[in-house]
Amino acid sequence: MAEMNPFKIAQQQLDESAKKLGLDQATHEFLRWPQREYRFTLPVKMDNGRTRVFHAYRVQYNGARGPTKGGLRWHPDETIDTVRALAAWMTWKCAVVNIPLGGGKGGVTCNPKEMTETEKERLARAYIRAVARELGVHRDVPAPDVYTNPQIMAWMMDEYETILGESHPGVITGKPIAIGGSQGRGDATARGGVYVVREASQKIGLDPTKATYAVQGFGNAGQYAATLHNEILGGGRLVAVSDSSGGVVNKDGIDPEEIVRFKLETGKVSGFPGTKAITNEELLELDVDILYPAALEGVITDANAGNIKAKLICELANGPTTPGADEILHGKGTLILPDFLANAGGVTVSYFEQVQNTYNYYWSLEHVHEQLDRRMTDAFNAVFDTREKAKAHMRLAAYMVSVTRVAEACKLRGWV
Ligand code: GLU
Repeated sequence: MAEMNPFKIAQQQLDESAKKLGLDQATHEFLRWPQREYRFTLPVKMDNGRTRVFHAYRVQYNGARGPTKGGLRWHPDETIDTVRALAAWMTWKCAVVNIPLGGGKGGVTCNPKEMTETEKERLARAYIRAVARELGVHRDVPAPDVYTNPQIMAWMMDEYETILGESHPGVITGKPIAIGGSQGRGDATARGGVYVVREASQKIGLDPTKATYAVQGFGNAGQYAATLHNEILGGGRLVAVSDSSGGVVNKDGIDPEEIVRFKLETGKVSGFPGTKAITNEELLELDVDILYPAALEGVITDANAGNIKAKLICELANGPTTPGADEILHGKGTLILPDFLANAGGVTVSYFEQVQNTYNYYWSLEHVHEQLDRRMTDAFNAVFDTREKAKAHMRLAAYMVSVTRVAEACKLRGWV
């Protein structure tokens, strides 16, 4: 079904913007497809001595604006189409924050929750051995995403440098700080999202210090969104949180720091003292001002969009809203901060990390925050202005900004 295939959705979103922009046919067709894609079969020795075979991908969607850039996701449901969609969204993401990078994405179909650290290390190194010749600071640069983390980036960088026999810290971002990572990369995705919530709230007259908010998905982005909303905006009441094993709610408020601690200690949010259990689906329909979907794609569909009460949706996840749901929400006047704008903070600080790696000189945390705030605020304003001028909804406006920039680069290169 087109509705649930993320790549079909990504193409459909592009089609809508191409039409609105009056994009010429060749450029439109070119931008509908990845420029290059790789599929790998990776045999990995497990701790019990048996070999397991993993299927893996890397998609280099569009490199007109610079080396392709994007995370590596390890998930049981990964397919070539999820990776293609995510790579397309990376292209629009780098363009909307106006960083000189193209879009790419990688994926391995696996369940890291059932793997030991040594098995993960062997898988990480196997992946790099397969893809190394296609990567490089000036080619394609991976980073963390769902179920991958700085430790996995460290193993990957080490494998890459071992193969080349040279130092190449900029080949991968989201590294631990001790080996060339940037200050502020850890919470950058959520921080960027909260910066755009701050800007959007002003536009719609919502006081974020009095607003209630709920977070769906409690990995890196969700955990930091819960705490940074209060820290950056100076208030707000977190009322519900969920992860893949279920959710919890307390209308009087949940202490963000405490629930993050609980999650880190127990591995889930369920059972957090003073809360009632709810499902992920129920969380999305709660009567809150701001919703942060921070898990996976396809959770807000035309089946539940009509019941969503939030005034503002900050999409920290990639692709959480299907096109059918988009239409319903826009019709109701919900302001959506679309994924590739709302969650662009991560790749923006990845770009800062690469810049620092290149000149081998490192910035302070304050400098990273200042630069990130400027990029996110400028991106929000570019999209919001386009929304007003073109009378488009936010996602379409974001596409219009990004597609215009990528199309210009393709044309200047003489590709189309
Ligand atoms: N995986 C993150 C994203 O989807 C970050 C990508 C990067 O830093 O390259 O935006």
